[in-house]
Amino acid sequence: MQYTEIMVRYGELSTKGKNRRSFIMRLAQNVRGALAEFPAIKIHADRDRMHLILNEADSSLIIPKLQKVFGIQNFSPSIQVEKTPEAIQASAQEIMQTIYTGKETFKITAKRSDHSFELDSNEIQQFLGKAIVEQFPGIRAQMRQPDINLRVEIRRDGAYLSYETIKGAGGLPVGTSGKGMLMLSGGIDSPVAGYLSMKRGVEIEAVHFASPPYTSEQALQKAKDLTEKLTPYVGSIQFIEVPFTEIQEEIKQHTPQGYWMTLTRRMMLRLTDAIRARRHGLVIINGESLGQVASQTLHSMVAINEVTNTPIIRPVATMDKLEIIELAESIDTFELAIQPFEDCCTIFAPPQPKTRPKMEKVLELEKRLDIDGMMERCLGGLKIEAITPEQTNEQMDEFADLL
Ligand code: ATP
Ligand code: MG
Repeated sequence: MQYTEIMVRYGELSTKGKNRRSFIMRLAQNVRGALAEFPAIKIHADRDRMHLILNEADSSLIIPKLQKVFGIQNFSPSIQVEKTPEAIQASAQEIMQTIYTGKETFKITAKRSDHSFELDSNEIQQFLGKAIVEQFPGIRAQMRQPDINLRVEIRRDGAYLSYETIKGAGGLPVGTSGKGMLMLSGGIDSPVAGYLSMKRGVEIEAVHFASPPYTSEQALQKAKDLTEKLTPYVGSIQFIEVPFTEIQEEIKQHTPQGYWMTLTRRMMLRLTDAIRARRHGLVIINGESLGQVASQTLHSMVAINEVTNTPIIRPVATMDKLEIIELAESIDTFELAIQPFEDCCTIFAPPQPKTRPKMEKVLELEKRLDIDGMMERCLGGLKIEAITPEQTNEQMDEFADLL
């Protein structure tokens, strides 16, 4: 049985009145991005639903990808047949033949949006119900919560049959809430923070601080691989590598170790904010979780946050580590994140960071540093690349082999 179409029901965006059009257009664009490997698929979006015309593309490959697109409540793969009672009956019986195991109850739900069709929805239900009972004499019809609900929709261009409703990812289409810069380390928390903000419609760009030669090529690759794990939700993500070596060396050389962490974090935040402004982002997102380490006490947060007024979203701030890990496992970033490549924070980690840094002290110590000069040199050395999903890369490699 080959599906010909997937009918997509929108999530929360149905309620968004005025913005609805741009929400739907963005969702269509994101679906297109997630299904880039299937250029034959046609997308028709209207006010209430989106229809993906598969044009022979394999639905078993498409369904898992579609399940990751935010803004979709659920979807039903369906089969298009000729708009005649005979063709509809044959297809309904074929579907039942494949799915009925002898135990399930069933129901037919018909909807006729093309009123020129010879049977109305009641008549379609009776006609098909009768045909199915003849096909399987023992089968039981059940109107409330049947095991199988076979839906038939008569539209202008044909009749559509479906029986599965697959749960979507929920949330809002990525991009409809604007853009944010995700501070992405190589750890467990920041990829989860990125995932959760995308789920609420935020388009993200990943900002990663690297301090070669103190941090390795593998640590950088790990951050890129983690970014790649977040791409199925959007299609592609810009990865911004920030050269952080000079700044860390300067801090280490000119300030007492108890303040390294606070000063380093303040520089990271200043730089992320400058990158955000250049790239027209609205907010900053990070993976801070209250109380996990010295930098994440409320006192530290206040001292670090002092460098900017830009809103900072901390999606995992109040989650327990185990809750974060569970999410990391479900988006497949956990295994990668626990690989032991040191990042810039671990390497320069002072033995005893202040958990209650004093603001006057911080400002006084920063006078010893050429903050503007360091920032300018750092921002001059950004490396930006687009990260795309694995499959697309493999496909590109295949094409490369052919050339
Ligand atoms: P994570 O698991 O995300 O690494 P963490 O619990 O290890 O978080 P920290 O290492 O203190 O906590 O980092 C707190 C947050 O600061 C990170 O979640 C991330 O958003 C940001 N951050 C830390 N290091 C980097 C880095 N090298 N590049 C970009 N952002 C970073
Ligand atoms: Mg970390």
